[in-house]
Amino acid sequence: MSTTRVEHLIIGGGVAGVSLAAHLAERERAAHERADVLLLEAEPILAHHTSGRSAQQLIPSYGPDAVRELTRLTLEELDRTQAELAHPVVWPSGFLMAGTEEQVAAGASEAMRRISLDELAQLAPELRIERFEAAGLDTTAVRSNAPRLIHWHAERARSAGAQLRTGARVTGIEPRPAGDGFEVSVQTETGTERIHARVVVNAAGAWADHVASLAGAAPLELTPLRRTAAVVTLAEPLAPEHPLLDRADEAYYYRPEGEHLLISPSEAVPSPAEDAQPILAEVEAVIELIRQDTTLQIGPVQRAWTGLRTESPDGVPVVGPDPEVPGLFWLAGQSGYGFQTCSALARVATDLLVDGAVGDWCPAWAAQALDPRRFPLAR
Ligand SMILES: Cc1cc2nc3c(=O)[nH]c(=O)nc-3n(C[C@H](O)[C@H](O)[C@H](O)COP(=O)(O)OP(=O)(O)OC[C@H]3O[C@@H](n4cnc5c(N)ncnc54)[C@H](O)[C@@H]3O)c2cc1C
Repeated sequence: MSTTRVEHLIIGGGVAGVSLAAHLAERERAAHERADVLLLEAEPILAHHTSGRSAQQLIPSYGPDAVRELTRLTLEELDRTQAELAHPVVWPSGFLMAGTEEQVAAGASEAMRRISLDELAQLAPELRIERFEAAGLDTTAVRSNAPRLIHWHAERARSAGAQLRTGARVTGIEPRPAGDGFEVSVQTETGTERIHARVVVNAAGAWADHVASLAGAAPLELTPLRRTAAVVTLAEPLAPEHPLLDRADEAYYYRPEGEHLLISPSEAVPSPAEDAQPILAEVEAVIELIRQDTTLQIGPVQRAWTGLRTESPDGVPVVGPDPEVPGLFWLAGQSGYGFQTCSALARVATDLLVDGAVGDWCPAWAAQALDPRRFPLAR
């Protein structure tokens, strides 16, 4: 069996792995005129798991401090770089939060402006306004076309010289003697291959703790959490510019999806790492809640899906070298923020992998918040 040799092996072809492949390959090609980056995805297509199942929003007022800062930086970069594209990958789409005074105050941040109930009623005329006390609006939020964003990053990676392979599941990661990288076993349709990788990047989403264990690393106690979304019909469509409406107690969110409505029960239920499937009774229950709060005439469910938002113990993604295993690098724990932080996380990871430190484009406190060494090791 022949052994391929590669400098950077990325495991996982979701938004995290593909964004990193693009950034890293472009950086390597600029420095050495060639990129030595290989991405392996177990499934037959990229973004089959969580990255193919998101709500495709990027919301600067959403998430812990570091996530909000990384979202701002991601939006800056996407805005700048998407100018080269015929069709944008992100475009403005407001984020509205409504609930009790206390809930809205707890969810508010610098990107979110408090608005009156009159303004709320104008922005979301379908609401039974007497059921709400307070609201906030983030006009800096954007919507994305996630498949287009992934495709664009994959094309950028390939044209910079990276290889992206699907149907290639990593089944073993053996550290080689004298710190000379890893011997990686890969299962494909045609059999098992071996790859000698100097650095392995773990961008395996819900499987990240498992992948780390293949390399002998301790888990970071990442928890995959179920989150369902569905598209339902409406007797009368909402205005296309209607913001995403999030009930501040996280009971649900909804937003227009063409002439239909995208809804989510906003659940966060721990799950094994698996191909998660929706529970239709939960979708029906959230439709009932939305009916109680609005005058929307909701019809049948067109489609429903569930993905796993994989969360670290403090809810902030994990980007950096493994605390114990040299050459193993984490890019995981993106929770509900994988799209909104994709470019900034890929850039942080690229800086760390190439330079060993993050450039001053990213505030030091935000980069430090991602460090895997912040957790006690669970052995
Ligand atoms: C309903 C829902 C709504 C969401 N809405 C938003 C939103 O509006 N905005 C936002 O920013 N985020 C949102 N998210 C979260 C976002 O989708 C995730 O943060 C993001 O997709 C995580 O990307 P990832 O690349 O880390 O994981 P994944 O997309 O799961 O990719 C990991 C990949 O690793 C592969 N893999 C695992 N093990 C191996 C192995 N051994 N060998 C090879 N490959 C392997 C898997 O097959 C998988 O494709 C939402 C999530 C859900 C479920």
